[in-house]
Amino acid sequence: MNVLVINCGSSSLKYQLIDMTNEEVRAKGLVERIGIEGSRVKHTTVGKEQVVIEEPMKDHRRALELVLNALVNPEYGAIKSMDDIYAVGHRVVHGGEEFANSAIIDERVMEALNACIELAPLHNPPNIMGIEACKELMPNTPMVAVFDTAFHQTIPPENYIYPLPYEYYEKYRIRKYGFHGTSHKYVSQRAAEILGKPIEELNIITCHLGNGSSVCAVKGGKSIATSMGFTPLEGLAMGTRCGDIDPAIILFLMEKEKLSFDEVNTLLNKKSGVLGISGISSDFRDLEEEAEKGNERALLALKVFCNRVKEYIGAYSALLCNVDALVFTAGIGENSPTVREHICEGLDCINIKLDRELNKIRGKEAIVSRDLTSVPVLVIPTNEELMIARDTVELVKK
Ligand code: ADP
Repeated sequence: MNVLVINCGSSSLKYQLIDMTNEEVRAKGLVERIGIEGSRVKHTTVGKEQVVIEEPMKDHRRALELVLNALVNPEYGAIKSMDDIYAVGHRVVHGGEEFANSAIIDERVMEALNACIELAPLHNPPNIMGIEACKELMPNTPMVAVFDTAFHQTIPPENYIYPLPYEYYEKYRIRKYGFHGTSHKYVSQRAAEILGKPIEELNIITCHLGNGSSVCAVKGGKSIATSMGFTPLEGLAMGTRCGDIDPAIILFLMEKEKLSFDEVNTLLNKKSGVLGISGISSDFRDLEEEAEKGNERALLALKVFCNRVKEYIGAYSALLCNVDALVFTAGIGENSPTVREHICEGLDCINIKLDRELNKIRGKEAIVSRDLTSVPVLVIPTNEELMIARDTVELVKK
């Protein structure tokens, strides 16, 4: 039973074909530069060589057509025909307040998705394009939408309402939504499995640290607070996003630098974060290397990043009262012992203690805390695609 998982960006399409009888990936790939010169599909069927198909693609429909052709190619494909695809799971960034769970895609869901464009003008349109392309190319295959925001719909109002005039919540639905939900859900469930305890009994803090980063407080398997907000700009300092800043800085800069709406948007989303502080890179591998060589701004960027994560861990341990596990995931969380070490430094006061040796691992599941009496600290590679495929099968079977 194969599920095709699709994640569409504005000019990219990532996919995985997962056999859900054993939850193993059969093929995966990436389409780059859709609608731009130099577009290509990088396709790998497990056990075979990667192929790169270079062909002009004017839109997501053409991109998906090439992906489906690659999947059924007798030489480098993974399946005989499209009939071997049981269902398609789509990652959708914003489900607004409409979706607290994944949903079978029908007309009503499409309407709701279109209504959410206002909330995620950069992310939802390409997600919708991917769905439309699938509908055209595989009209009889069931499809499911899995939302980045859905897991956070359990956050109580006192944690999602902003201290702004309430009418803006009523009028525009301005509130905290939170993102990376599929990842926070996956790693919190996996942490419970690894610890051998029912998730209903656990309080877990999950740190998804990648290009975009967020922290989540998970109580009994439900999100009760998260650092990203109305948009993915709030919270931690990120690769290029500023995260929490005094909102008055925006007004000050607009006046001093005569910045337009678009310029402010670019400044906060693309030129800030650790890139902004270091002036070097948004990539933590570059920053760690430069910091090691003595570059003070790179070191400062890393310190600001780690301190922010530490602050959220502190805040969420206050909300949860008692923390049963701390989890690190995503590109940085999974691969940077240095970042994990800096974040946990000085957290002995809340019984979080890392073991330096155990913490040296990268990219695989491990418990890296010092002893059995301290809070378990886990590194868990995230697997959003598997989570999407699981939800897809569950809903389609129903
Ligand atoms: P996203 O999915 O949000 O694009 P990822 O979760 O793939 O991002 O994380 C990407 C980030 O992970 C990169 O910016 C890089 O800084 C970081 N990263 C990857 N490998 C390492 C490593 N070995 N050491 C430190 N950071 C790493």
